[in-house]
Amino acid sequence: MNYYSTNCRTSDVTLEEAVVKGLAADKGLFMPRAISLLPAKFFREIEKLSLQEIAFEVATAFFGEDLPSDILRSMVDDTLNFDIPLVKVTDRIYSLELFHGPTLAFKDVGARFMARMLGYFIRKEGKQGVHVLVATSGDTGSAVANGFLGVEGIRVHVLYPKGKVSRIQEQQFTTLGGNVTALEVDGCFDDCQALVKSAFMDDELNDRLDLTSANSINVARFLPQAFYYFHAYARLKEADARLVACVPSGNFGNLTAGLLAKKMGLPVDKYIAANNRNDVFYQYLKTGRYSPRPSVATLANAMDVGDPSNFARILALYANSYEAIVTDVGGAAYDDAQIAEEIRTVWDRHRYLLDPHGACGFRALRESLMPGEVGFFLATAHPAKFQEKVERIIGDSIAVPPRLQRFMQGKKRTVPIRKSFADFKDYLLNSSGLG
Ligand SMILES: *Cc1c(COP(=O)(O)O)cnc(C)c1O
Repeated sequence: MNYYSTNCRTSDVTLEEAVVKGLAADKGLFMPRAISLLPAKFFREIEKLSLQEIAFEVATAFFGEDLPSDILRSMVDDTLNFDIPLVKVTDRIYSLELFHGPTLAFKDVGARFMARMLGYFIRKEGKQGVHVLVATSGDTGSAVANGFLGVEGIRVHVLYPKGKVSRIQEQQFTTLGGNVTALEVDGCFDDCQALVKSAFMDDELNDRLDLTSANSINVARFLPQAFYYFHAYARLKEADARLVACVPSGNFGNLTAGLLAKKMGLPVDKYIAANNRNDVFYQYLKTGRYSPRPSVATLANAMDVGDPSNFARILALYANSYEAIVTDVGGAAYDDAQIAEEIRTVWDRHRYLLDPHGACGFRALRESLMPGEVGFFLATAHPAKFQEKVERIIGDSIAVPPRLQRFMQGKKRTVPIRKSFADFKDYLLNSSGLG
């Protein structure tokens, strides 16, 4: 399968190039050239298949031409070594719990898959080792670091702003050891990002080291997010109702993967993008105008995005047709007071604990489901990742899963650096091979 750039100013590339490069030469995002309908037989019997079997079928539609089947199967099985339960919250609303992976958020799926696929390609290319550079304001760093942990031939460097990420987040990428190093930068997130960008532009570094990024726009992170929409459908098929999928959205990778699943024949009638106060996409749905603006901080902070990068992919998927987009996608947006109110009432009434992102998803379904429809929302993170906020909202203490507690007990190890490119470059050049 070939991949084209959403900017259409460069020629198609192979899967390998798309994965290794991440971003197209014209700065566009890669999209699969062909999106094939999955066979009717697959949908007829899908309820008999496990999550891993469903994911393998979908992965084969994307990557089957480019990878041997047994390799692809082990990538899928290694990635999904945890379950994604669909939990009934009310009569007609289900929670797709995407938070049972190592860092308790949905990004584990894409990050783990990408790590395995990138590892495969660099071994195939006979490279000695590749350095993955990630700047993080919290969540991406943990998913990427844990996704790549122990993957042969890859060394991960996570740059994060000292004192500006939560302790839970910090523990998730500073305690791993192995092929993961955390760089504690004396600066803010933008400084971390600037260091990474400068590294990619530095000729000497690029001559001496193989550098790559694990950006969320990489197709190897983006496409696997389609897997779990098919899985949700399989678990809900019995309900025999019109299905609505609701996606708490920030950069819109998750929603776009769901829309791709629909193009592959997934019988989901309608998608809802749930936003917090950063509602650029919701405004687009209402007005037809896309006006990015700086993000504001909210309770659902992983959705604090003012110019969602995957908007370009949605336009590409719908051939720039606003009418076609609003036929398939609806929207909603909530402020912090509404998010908190939703967490509180769902806990009081249904004893189901939402995290601030999932709360947007639940509320959007509650307010928009029509008679005869059943909805599921993507529960994108475990509520314990936002322990203090959630405890304050419900006025009670919450259980912290053992996996999260283990991170909290780990020993933090970092390399402190100043926000100076010269220091960062020295560090990279001296970082000892691929230990
Ligand atoms: C990243 C993230 C989101 C937003 O997902 P996108 O694919 O960027 O729209 C939502 N919730 C949580 C918890 C996240 O970490």
